Amino acid sequence: MTAKIRVAGGCLCGAVRYEIRGPLRGVVNCHCGLCRRMHGHVAAYTAVDPNDLVMVAAATLRWYASSARAQRGFCSICGASLFWKPAHGRHLAVAAGTLDSPTGLTTIAQIYTRDAGDYYELSDGLPEYPGTLE
Ligand SMILES: [Zn+2]
Ligand SMILES: [Zn+2]
Repeated sequence: MTAKIRVAGGCLCGAVRYEIRGPLRGVVNCHCGLCRRMHGHVAAYTAVDPNDLVMVAAATLRWYASSARAQRGFCSICGASLFWKPAHGRHLAVAAGTLDSPTGLTTIAQIYTRDAGDYYELSDGLPEYPGTLE
């Protein structure tokens, strides 16, 4: 039986579309330098079981290996950053800004705060982790 769609999403131009058919983690804001360069600022990611992500349209989806640890999925037409896929890991991160509203999610933490940019303050009171969550 096909699982119910929890939420759908896609890139800015609409060429990449996906559905999520399982639970989503709360949103985590990542301040690392790789995310800030890829997204233009802090990255906000939920996370899902890779098996729960169903691609509806992905012809323009490309993957960039930002490090040996992970690949980042983006749309080759509009440049939207959608996914972070670890080389070894149990979850796939989905950029929260690419989800259709309402997401039903809340932001739960900030990670890699030791790498935060010097042009903004961490002032939202969320739990802060200097590195990763785990
Ligand atoms: Zn696009
Ligand atoms: Zn990051």
